[in-house]
Amino acid sequence: MTSPIWHPFTQHGLGEPIPLVSHAQGAAIHTVDGRRIIDAISSWWVTTHGHGHPRIMAAIAEQAARLDQIIFAGWTHEPAETVARELVAITPAPLTRVFFSDSGSTSVEVALKMALGHFANRGEARHRILVLEHSYHGDTIGAMSVGARGVFNRAYAPLLFDVETLPFPATGREQATIDALEAACRDDTPAALIVEPLLSGAGGMLIYPPATLRAMRDLCTRHGVLFIADEVMTGWGRTGTLFACDQAGVVPDLMCLSKGLTGGAMPLAVTLATNAIFDSHWSEDRARMFFHSSSYTANPIACAAAAANLAIWRDEPVLDRVADLERRQRTHLAALASHPAVHGARQLGTVTALELGDGTSRYLSDLAPRLLAFFHDRDILLRPLGNTIYVMPPYCIDDADLGLIYGAIAEALDRFG
Ligand code: PLP
Repeated sequence: MTSPIWHPFTQHGLGEPIPLVSHAQGAAIHTVDGRRIIDAISSWWVTTHGHGHPRIMAAIAEQAARLDQIIFAGWTHEPAETVARELVAITPAPLTRVFFSDSGSTSVEVALKMALGHFANRGEARHRILVLEHSYHGDTIGAMSVGARGVFNRAYAPLLFDVETLPFPATGREQATIDALEAACRDDTPAALIVEPLLSGAGGMLIYPPATLRAMRDLCTRHGVLFIADEVMTGWGRTGTLFACDQAGVVPDLMCLSKGLTGGAMPLAVTLATNAIFDSHWSEDRARMFFHSSSYTANPIACAAAAANLAIWRDEPVLDRVADLERRQRTHLAALASHPAVHGARQLGTVTALELGDGTSRYLSDLAPRLLAFFHDRDILLRPLGNTIYVMPPYCIDDADLGLIYGAIAEALDRFG
């Protein structure tokens, strides 16, 4: 019987296999037909500690028995209060307000609306948004608008709002980004710059240095432009530190978190904001409130999962595991880097990437579906971005599984290179 499900980012016409998953534990996904598949991309970058972490699973079960869901406009609950307090404690001091939503895309929509609301409520005519080339911030209309234009959003282009795109700070071209930002800021009309700090994910796992992030932040401060750090993918240890901004000593005005916020177990997101942004909405006038919500805002079960994740970060040596994974991957990547089919081997924290072929990254490269099938046949979940192969495993992955991933990549280089 064919399934009625329409899957995300899936071309059903290609007949991609859609495995039926029964359970997952640690770095392994198990299918109903008995296959054990290594999760080399953390189930779309969400699973940090590993699937089924016992503390997160227990927190979900306990919370489900107590309070499943409650309207969050004008109501609150302990798991949300705990998560908010702890997020404020572990993020830079100026971030004092926590707004809940339910996906990375919505956390970005919220940040953009807060930035525009901030200036509108202060009577300042700032509404332009600055973005980095190759950005990806999600698939809702606002999030797509601040992302790179391409095949993914061509059909929806008439709906997207205009933004100003700064060149990506590729190695050796960092100053061009800073110069473009300075020029864009000169007329004092931009409301905000949104960036993926240090690592542009879906745009091809592109890395840029902390000094550039810092310089962009400083320029925004100087010109009164709000700085939005989209840490949806880079947060929760992926880049080697808890947040990528930490490596640059950067304090954003707005910070988006999701994915690993619950350890990857439940859909939840937050947008953290400074007091200044909260204060510009604070009033006795209802017309100035922040007009955003969704039905499941701060769902208690998702918040309980996030509280358990925060406790794991507090009690367990997560950054040691991250450092260890970083070191082990470095060795594997070094072994591949000299292969003649490899271009641009690179690593930031727990993420490694390389281009197969002529060094140009192309999302619709014919290689992508062939590589996907190749890795699938070897029981490895790797989903190349075009001809860019990247690895982003959960932190619990063992040497044997890591060896199998890089062994399969080596084989793919020989086969397709
Ligand atoms: N922002 C970044 C940097 C992302 O990588 C993603 C997703 O990959 C998003 C936003 C969107 O998150 P979601 O898919 O949860 O809406």
